[in-house]
Amino acid sequence: MQVHVDLAVCQSHGQCVFGAPDVFSFDDDDQLRYSPSPPEERRADVIRAASACPVRAITVGPSGSGRPAA
Ligand code: SF4
Repeated sequence: MQVHVDLAVCQSHGQCVFGAPDVFSFDDDDQLRYSPSPPEERRADVIRAASACPVRAITVGPSGSGRPAA
Protein backbone atom coordinates (compact mmCIF):
# COMPACT_ATOMS: atom_id res chain seq x y z
CA MET A 1 0.00 0.00 0.00
CA GLN A 2 1.24 3.48 -0.85
CA VAL A 3 0.30 6.55 1.18
CA HIS A 4 0.87 10.14 0.19
CA VAL A 5 0.07 13.27 2.18
CA ASP A 6 0.06 16.63 0.43
CA LEU A 7 1.87 18.57 3.14
CA ALA A 8 1.09 21.83 1.35
CA VAL A 9 -2.59 21.12 2.04
CA CYS A 10 -2.30 19.46 5.47
CA GLN A 11 -3.34 21.80 8.27
CA SER A 12 -2.17 19.53 11.11
CA HIS A 13 -5.68 18.76 12.31
CA GLY A 14 -4.45 15.39 13.53
CA GLN A 15 -7.45 13.20 12.72
CA CYS A 16 -5.16 10.88 10.77
CA VAL A 17 -2.90 10.51 13.82
CA PHE A 18 -5.86 9.38 15.91
CA GLY A 19 -7.05 7.04 13.15
CA ALA A 20 -3.74 5.28 12.47
CA PRO A 21 -1.10 6.39 15.00
CA ASP A 22 1.43 3.82 13.79
CA VAL A 23 1.31 5.35 10.30
CA PHE A 24 0.81 9.08 11.01
CA SER A 25 2.44 11.14 13.75
CA PHE A 26 3.62 14.63 14.58
CA ASP A 27 7.25 15.46 15.18
CA ASP A 28 8.51 17.84 17.85
CA ASP A 29 7.72 20.80 15.58
CA ASP A 30 4.12 19.61 15.03
CA GLN A 31 5.00 18.68 11.45
CA LEU A 32 3.15 15.63 10.17
CA ARG A 33 5.29 12.54 9.54
CA TYR A 34 3.97 9.37 7.94
CA SER A 35 4.98 6.01 6.62
CA PRO A 36 4.68 6.11 2.81
CA SER A 37 4.33 2.32 2.47
CA PRO A 38 2.66 0.81 5.54
CA PRO A 39 1.81 -2.90 5.63
CA GLU A 40 -1.28 -3.96 3.70
CA GLU A 41 -3.04 -5.11 6.88
CA ARG A 42 -3.14 -1.48 8.01
CA ARG A 43 -5.26 -0.51 4.99
CA ALA A 44 -8.61 -0.25 6.82
CA ASP A 45 -7.26 2.17 9.42
CA VAL A 46 -5.37 4.19 6.81
CA ILE A 47 -8.50 4.50 4.66
CA ARG A 48 -10.42 5.59 7.73
CA ALA A 49 -7.73 8.14 8.55
CA ALA A 50 -7.77 9.48 4.98
CA SER A 51 -11.55 9.76 5.08
CA ALA A 52 -11.36 11.68 8.37
CA CYS A 53 -8.95 14.28 7.02
CA PRO A 54 -10.98 17.50 6.73
CA VAL A 55 -8.86 18.85 3.87
CA ARG A 56 -8.54 15.54 1.96
CA ALA A 57 -4.74 15.74 2.02
CA ILE A 58 -4.22 11.95 2.16
CA THR A 59 -4.28 9.65 -0.87
CA VAL A 60 -3.98 5.87 -0.66
CA GLY A 61 -3.11 3.46 -3.45
CA PRO A 62 -1.88 -0.08 -4.01
CA SER A 63 1.80 -0.98 -3.74
CA GLY A 64 3.85 -0.40 -6.86
CA SER A 65 1.43 2.09 -8.34
CA GLY A 66 3.78 5.03 -8.17
CA ARG A 67 2.06 8.08 -6.82
CA PRO A 68 -1.14 6.74 -5.27
CA ALA A 69 -4.55 7.60 -6.61
CA ALA A 70 -7.36 8.77 -4.35
S1 SF4 B 1 -5.95 14.76 9.18
FE1 SF4 B 1 -5.30 15.73 7.27
S2 SF4 B 1 -4.93 17.86 7.82
FE2 SF4 B 1 -4.95 16.66 9.70
S3 SF4 B 1 -2.84 16.11 10.10
FE3 SF4 B 1 -3.75 14.43 8.97
S4 SF4 B 1 -3.29 14.91 6.82
FE4 SF4 B 1 -2.99 16.77 7.98
